Amino acid sequence: MSDTWNPRTRAVHGGTRRSQYGEVSEAIFLTQGFVYDSAEAAAQRFEAAGEDEFIYARYGNPTVRMFEERIAMLEGVEDGFATASGMAAVSGALTAMLKSGDRVVSARALFGSCLYVLEEILTRYGVEVVFVDGTDLDQWRAAITPETTAVFFESISNPTLEVVDIAAVSDMAHSVGATVLVDNVFATPVFSNAISQGADVVIYSATKHIDGQGRALGGIILGTRDFIRKTVEPYMKHTGGSMSPFTAWVMLKGLETLDMRVRAQAETALALADALQGHDALARVLYPGHHTHAQHPLVQAQMGGQGGTVLSLDLKDGQAAAFKFLNALTIPVISNNLGDAKSILTHPATTTHQRLPQDQKDILGITPGLVRMSVGLEDAQDLRADILQALDQAK
Ligand SMILES: *Cc1c(COP(=O)(O)O)cnc(C)c1O
Repeated sequence: MSDTWNPRTRAVHGGTRRSQYGEVSEAIFLTQGFVYDSAEAAAQRFEAAGEDEFIYARYGNPTVRMFEERIAMLEGVEDGFATASGMAAVSGALTAMLKSGDRVVSARALFGSCLYVLEEILTRYGVEVVFVDGTDLDQWRAAITPETTAVFFESISNPTLEVVDIAAVSDMAHSVGATVLVDNVFATPVFSNAISQGADVVIYSATKHIDGQGRALGGIILGTRDFIRKTVEPYMKHTGGSMSPFTAWVMLKGLETLDMRVRAQAETALALADALQGHDALARVLYPGHHTHAQHPLVQAQMGGQGGTVLSLDLKDGQAAAFKFLNALTIPVISNNLGDAKSILTHPATTTHQRLPQDQKDILGITPGLVRMSVGLEDAQDLRADILQALDQAK
């Protein structure tokens, strides 16, 4: 029956496991271990654990399993492995499948820690990593050689909000037998189904929209049952990046309200992008869902025209103006999470992307005046008024 459910129903009921008490809200099984009825039962479970049989929370736990099944069902994939953070998911998925001598082709515009894993860690173990401009299909085509094992990208890049063509890049990767791993955080499970567009593995930092209220770190690796249970699980359960049962419970509750939160946030983001276009203090207003975005046709095809919950503003007068603007805001907070109920602004050049050399910042369009705004659940009119007064003060 659940096969016919639409996403919102999946996000509320998917994966539910009830104990003998018939609780309505999912139980938190805050236990690291499980008791076996006999020595023989323990031996049997280590040999082949059944669906409802758990061994140790690093390997799996009923609350964590509920979260994995719910988000897998929402995403329309066979299985998922929940991790301690988004980075445990990114590094775990890549490390679990790669070995010395493999070649990875990746978009250059990446979350700072993703870049570190690819550039500094994987290369240390003999993996060749090649970076391309994710929006340039010719660069992907040239780089995806027959030696390529994996292709990695963020479907919407941070903080300049460029969109990668999932279907086109996946086709190129599959033609040489490479696995496509997509970090889909900015696109969200609500607006993007990367799997149906060709990705083999989808990764989320659940810390962002899935929690949605800035409480817990978490992540998820989604893919085929074979990939998750035969490649990811052995790596994760032995190296220790598993999600805690308490976090899984927070994320389960987050999934229930994900759709309505993300849609409300995206609606406000679009309204703000529209209201701020052409403002005389701004050189650029970047929002994938706005018709002025350079890749608007791709956003239509890939995300149904929805641009997500993040927009970026580029102040004409550079860093001093950006700082004055941030300091003059009274409703949003200055921080670096995203997907939160609270609107959050970040100055990437001096925080999240501080360590990038200037030439890299220039290539990625991370200018001194650029601020990234994760749009929250506040009233859109209040946010608009606050931004306008802060832009006035930034002059
Ligand atoms: C936040 C983020 C991550 C890392 O997630 P954590 O939960 O902070 O470990 C990875 N990729 C993207 C695109 C992110 O925004």
